[in-house]
Amino acid sequence: MLFSAMVEVRTRYIQPVMFTCEVKGEPVSTGHRMRVNEFAAIVGPRSFRCGSCGEIHTWTTKTAWLGEGPPPSFAPARAEAASETQSV
Ligand SMILES: [Zn+2]
Repeated sequence: MLFSAMVEVRTRYIQPVMFTCEVKGEPVSTGHRMRVNEFAAIVGPRSFRCGSCGEIHTWTTKTAWLGEGPPPSFAPARAEAASETQSV
């Protein structure tokens, strides 16, 4: 129950849009902040000036993610937990 409550919080609150810098290979903020439903509604690429390397990067909802920290693909434990929740 506690886990589902945390997911609820994560989906309702405005979070930073993060992207992996193509030059340095590390997570950077795009400067955008939005809710999950707003992020999911984005169509097409967007650009931002990287705070890490200073270059312009282009991101889409497939290459960017919401929330602080590393991209979801770096946290397989969380993905397993999510698929478990869906199967119940
Ligand atoms: Zn960069």
